[in-house]
Amino acid sequence: MSGEYRFARFRLVSTGGQLVFRAQCEVCEELGPQAGTGDAAMMWTVFHLDDYPDHEVFRELSSTPYRVSRR
Ligand SMILES: [Zn+2]
Repeated sequence: MSGEYRFARFRLVSTGGQLVFRAQCEVCEELGPQAGTGDAAMMWTVFHLDDYPDHEVFRELSSTPYRVSRR
């Protein structure tokens, strides 16, 4: 994470806001709900594994909020 991405017409600058976490199943790509922590996000895997016992690989996603800064 660089905190800034530069494009020809604008920049994207990290707002410094809170990260958002989600869990994703690597088998079917279904996403769990947004959560404020990785621990909370990954709780969704318990329910997903109950519904789909053969879906055994997950990914923890975290996302950073960015704001457009025009030149
Ligand atoms: Zn799945």
